[in-house]
Amino acid sequence: MKLGIVGLPNVGKSTLFNSLTKAGAESANYPFCTIDPNVGVVAVPDDRLNKLAALYNSAKITPAVIEFVDIAGLVKGASKGEGLGNQFLANIREVDAIVHVVRCFEDSNIVHVDGSIDPIRDIETINLELIFSDIEILERRLAKQSKAAFNNKDIAKECDLIKRVKAHLEEGKLAKSFETDDEDEQAMLKSYNLLTAKPVIFAANVKEDDLADDGAGNKFVQSVRDYAAKENCEVFVICAQIEQEISELDDDEKKMFLEDLGLSESGLDKLIAASYRLLGLISYLTAGETETRAWTIVNGTKAPQAAGKIHSDFERGFIRAEVVNYQDLLDCKTYAGAKEKGLVRLEGKDYVVKDGDVILFRFNV
Ligand code: GDP
Repeated sequence: MKLGIVGLPNVGKSTLFNSLTKAGAESANYPFCTIDPNVGVVAVPDDRLNKLAALYNSAKITPAVIEFVDIAGLVKGASKGEGLGNQFLANIREVDAIVHVVRCFEDSNIVHVDGSIDPIRDIETINLELIFSDIEILERRLAKQSKAAFNNKDIAKECDLIKRVKAHLEEGKLAKSFETDDEDEQAMLKSYNLLTAKPVIFAANVKEDDLADDGAGNKFVQSVRDYAAKENCEVFVICAQIEQEISELDDDEKKMFLEDLGLSESGLDKLIAASYRLLGLISYLTAGETETRAWTIVNGTKAPQAAGKIHSDFERGFIRAEVVNYQDLLDCKTYAGAKEKGLVRLEGKDYVVKDGDVILFRFNV
């Protein structure tokens, strides 16, 4: 599961990416992230882990992680191959969701590519490139399929769909807002992996002074919020520069720094948590003396497949899961105590795992 960070040049993408990765997971544990400097593995903040680890006296805490990709270099004309445009668009095609950074801070020392601060114009500039790229994909598909359409009903149906989606995009709309009740059409649409069909979070990059009221007094942020509401997207107010400073602090210093700013949580932590949600991900937990750990699953995953995240043997030999809700366990202070109160449930192979379940799997080897 990967999120791509996009936005015009000089809006603060790299600053945000660097603070994400610096605050992030030990890269040594995730060797693949050292291969590509534009990919960062980031720990998902989860308060429950510390508390659970304290209960078990765990030697180690392993948080859930998600990947962020810094997709720099998207500019006007990218879909026509300007800059390294097409390469960047191909990178976006590989991500599951998009964090779109928009500049909502004024700073005469930092040039804006279009000469002024106007986040809606910026969003539309990027969207247009994504739309052009999607239209190209659809045109290629249509050219390929239309020859076979005259004697094949299914292919004719697909061609009809492509034409309708293309017309929708040509009105400047995103594939996300194209509606169809037909399940075949929904599946086909999904298979094209269109850029403008991907879920988006906006990160409104503001100056430090705008953090305390969460950007309420910043007219640029307001315009982004209005825009996002229409598109059904979330907006997070961040100050990339401050996040970069915070990412260099240890936990105690970070807490004090945030308190000084009147904040309980860093913008980055909120953004990471929201990204995780946007991808439809949840965490179940395992706890013991050696390790307390969060495991990532897609919401809706059943117990054996969730066990398979730990080891394929767990899935193959799955017998049952002993499940206790995190809060129940914490309230009872010990696993035995939770058991006594009947709060530890035995669940079978059809159990749908929930966020915050603390699980012990029983399996045959
Ligand atoms: P990118 O081209 O989108 O990756 O932008 P960068 O992250 O390289 O940032 C461009 C410039 O803006 C750099 O000089 C940053 O230090 C600066 N910058 C980034 N975020 C902020 C911010 O929140 N406030 C201010 N004033 N400057 C910022």
